[in-house]
Amino acid sequence: MSKEELNKIVEKAHEAFLISKKFSIQKRVAFMRAVADEIEALGPELIQTAQKESNLPEARLTGEKSRTIFQWRSYADAVERGDSLDASIDTVNAERTPPKPDLRKTAVPLGPVAVFGASNFPFAFSTAGGDTASAIAAGCPVIVKAHEGHPITSGIMADAISRAAEKSGMPEGTFAHVYSSTYETGQQLVSHPLIKAVGFTGSYRGGKALVDLANERPEPIPVFAEMGSVNPLYLLPNKLSTVPQELAKQYAGSLTLGVGQFCTNPGLVIGIAGEELNQFIEELKGEIVKIAPGVMLNKKIAAGYSESREKVIGQSGVEVLAVSETEAAEGQGIPTVATVAGVELLVNPALLHEVFGPFALIVQCKDASEMLAVTEKIEGQLTVSLFATNQDLAAQEEIVSLLQTKCGRILFNNYPTGVEVVKSMHHGGPFPSSSNSAFTSVGADSIKRFVRPLSFQNWPDEFLPEELQNANPLNIWRTVNNEKTKKAVGDQLSAVG
Ligand code: NAP
Repeated sequence: MSKEELNKIVEKAHEAFLISKKFSIQKRVAFMRAVADEIEALGPELIQTAQKESNLPEARLTGEKSRTIFQWRSYADAVERGDSLDASIDTVNAERTPPKPDLRKTAVPLGPVAVFGASNFPFAFSTAGGDTASAIAAGCPVIVKAHEGHPITSGIMADAISRAAEKSGMPEGTFAHVYSSTYETGQQLVSHPLIKAVGFTGSYRGGKALVDLANERPEPIPVFAEMGSVNPLYLLPNKLSTVPQELAKQYAGSLTLGVGQFCTNPGLVIGIAGEELNQFIEELKGEIVKIAPGVMLNKKIAAGYSESREKVIGQSGVEVLAVSETEAAEGQGIPTVATVAGVELLVNPALLHEVFGPFALIVQCKDASEMLAVTEKIEGQLTVSLFATNQDLAAQEEIVSLLQTKCGRILFNNYPTGVEVVKSMHHGGPFPSSSNSAFTSVGADSIKRFVRPLSFQNWPDEFLPEELQNANPLNIWRTVNNEKTKKAVGDQLSAVG
């Protein structure tokens, strides 16, 4: 795509923004529900195409389609409830010296957003995925850069969104979809002065490149990059001593689920060397050899897996414990478990890099104080899982407390791969798992990434946005003089008075 063509698309998105920012919230909600309906109505062609392009199985894609529809519907519900507006009103006090003005705050959309999806979720984290749904929910036009791993799937989803936009009376430019076989178009998009934010899901390398590019702009813009993670899984001594074999069986399943191609895949296990950890390892070895290699998303991902797996295996002190006994064909990822002593990890950050695929590194610490030292080295993570008893939590309080500073979601005796789409989900985490740890990319709170606060001072009621008007015509929850209420402003004041 030429620079001129891209320019026209971005200008259209900007024009659409200027028009649609004046629309009612109900119109936006109707558009989002129409997108969900259009995706729901897509026939078997969608799943078949995605299967061909991503090698993901039918059942997994069918589930992902439902999740994607749910994202659009639940974010539409959140918009209707006014959740992301976080409307607040502090009424005038003319008696005060100096007089206190009337102040009312809402959240307004940032402007056109560029979205980059990931290869491993062709529906839920791609063209019609969470970034697009949340940016549209915020009131922002979206331009998606189609992922080269699933361009036809991306086109089917883009057409569904465009049909919904047209049927809902949204202006031309509300949604656009661009293809490119090089990174150039995506980079031009991020650098374009009319683009006001970026949603990215993918590798650390890609996310960091786009964050740097956005920061180099004359007007830097936020890039919400959700990147890779090794998702450490801690085996605390008391828990490990009770069920080492059972844990190993479950862990082997979690590690190799979907050929390990989840950003939440638990690729790093941390335990204390000893009899119990040995039992866990023996059982795990027995499981891993039985699990056959699976076809990965595409050749690039399979080559990336081989390369990063080799890199970790080649580090000083790393010993391979088990590899699937079935040889991997071209494009497949072979389940592999390796181990290293905790002391090596303390001096070698390369051991903490994500290996995207069914690879685990078991870190054997000599005691709890080494486990604490290893924990200090852990970078920001999407998730950390603790396999522990309550007694372990109390005994390792320092490690548990430190881990809470390192991740966006901390799990107790649970595996991290499932990411529920609910308000209380936080999917993100300290850098480098994401570029902005204050925001989630999953759940309706993800909408907050694409809005900014705007305060109105002493503004005439009929010229305020509906969510701030005295009568509360949207019937949403607002904070009025520090009280959460749905009451109209006059009513609230008389109730208080
Ligand atoms: P990727 O290679 O980084 O690609 C993501 C998107 O960014 C693609 O559209 C890609 O373009 C583009 N891109 C990458 N590098 C770029 C650059 N330097 N300049 C401009 N555009 C660039 O990621 P992936 O392989 O598709 O996905 C797998 C990774 O995603 C894994 O690391 C996984 O952990 C992570 N992931 C994270 C989450 C999360 O929520 N945190 C969820 C799912 C996956 P092309 O289409 O041209 O390649």
